[in-house]
Amino acid sequence: MTTSYYNHSKASTDSESIQEARSHLWPTYAPPDSPVFSHGKGTELYAEDGQVYLDFISGIAVTNLGHCHPELVKVVQEQAEKLWHLSNISRIPQAETLSKKLCDASFADAVFFSNSGAEAVEAGIKAIRGYHAKKNQKYKNRIIGFRGSFHGRTLGTIAAAGNPAHCQNFVPTDTGFDQAEWGNLSQLEDAITEKTAGILIEPIQGEGGIRPVEQEFLTALRELCNRNDLLLMFDEVQCGMGRSGYLFAHQKYNIQPDILASAKGLGGGFPVGACLATREVSDAMSIGTHGSTFGGNPLAMAVANKVLDIVLAEDFLPSVIEKSEKFKRLLDSLCARYPTVVANVYGEGLMLGVECVLPNTEILSLLRDGNLLVGKAGGNMIRLLPPLTVSEEEIDRAVLIMEECFKKASDGEQHLQESLSTANSQFHSAENGGSQK
Ligand SMILES: *Cc1c(COP(=O)(O)O)cnc(C)c1O
Repeated sequence: MTTSYYNHSKASTDSESIQEARSHLWPTYAPPDSPVFSHGKGTELYAEDGQVYLDFISGIAVTNLGHCHPELVKVVQEQAEKLWHLSNISRIPQAETLSKKLCDASFADAVFFSNSGAEAVEAGIKAIRGYHAKKNQKYKNRIIGFRGSFHGRTLGTIAAAGNPAHCQNFVPTDTGFDQAEWGNLSQLEDAITEKTAGILIEPIQGEGGIRPVEQEFLTALRELCNRNDLLLMFDEVQCGMGRSGYLFAHQKYNIQPDILASAKGLGGGFPVGACLATREVSDAMSIGTHGSTFGGNPLAMAVANKVLDIVLAEDFLPSVIEKSEKFKRLLDSLCARYPTVVANVYGEGLMLGVECVLPNTEILSLLRDGNLLVGKAGGNMIRLLPPLTVSEEEIDRAVLIMEECFKKASDGEQHLQESLSTANSQFHSAENGGSQK
């Protein structure tokens, strides 16, 4: 990056010009005014004002190999000089290679490539319906999802998750989705009718609040699907690609889906998604039934091939589990020592949620002030998604920042409680005609 370009791209910092700078973007996002980042390396992000931050959110589980991983930079540069895009009117050898690698490493027999998580989920939704249509049972077209789920922001995926906050104004009619309560098997059984075509679930809920599914529930789901001729689809857009310490989170449970959506970490920051399926399912998606202009283009495929090679290299996934155990132990200890601030730790691998006692938004901005970036999740959680390449020393640094912030919050909270109880007792003694004159 040249100096002049760097200066030119600098973001404004006073609040009026920030407002002006953002006035031509849809107001759908509300990032804090600062920090504004100019570059990153590994787990660190560098802000324009010179501050260095630890990135424990990874662009929401996307930059799983850290920022500007040298091997990814190299593969992007090499491919960018050869060929960016063809569309699927040509064979794309890099897509053929990647699909084989993904299938070798999973339950799947065939893959469809997309550009995003929502598109990968949509491909799976179509495949569920396409599969039943091909079997001459088109009446089987309803899909059951779970409350608290998140599957993306397209019309189909918001309807699948059924979150009223996302659907209102945008999904006016019944589009063929039902929702059951997370973990409630009898309610799920009641929701299944002869029209049900499949079940869609995140093996570890992300946005809804880092909730790993119970082994028994997942086993029961597979049996229910087998018994009722339903397809089981896993949304591993967030929890997949090594995040849980397994390539795909469900592999820990030894239960196989028929369809799986992947994205986020798959491109390490380059937009790419994939819908994996068994042969029986993919066979239903015959020529012309689905497509994408960008999906699986040479540039995206070159990057995703490299990401997968790195994640599947010996020792990579075991190291994620090792770091996870250490991180969880340290977080548990913080919960024990600052019970007025944080309560519990949830999650698998490096997809961890810390349930807060104080509002999670407050904790999040305190941590940001301490130069540690984390995310939020449902259930008043802060979400910790460091790059899978995070070092033990960086985990220690992050925990130290948390410790300082929690201590500050805990002291503030104690102070607040004390003044509240003083105010209370003064109020009561005044009420009783008390001792204070
Ligand atoms: C992020 C996410 C999606 C949507 O991915 P996009 O790339 O934003 O479309 C879908 N499912 C889950 C579980 C996610 O976390």
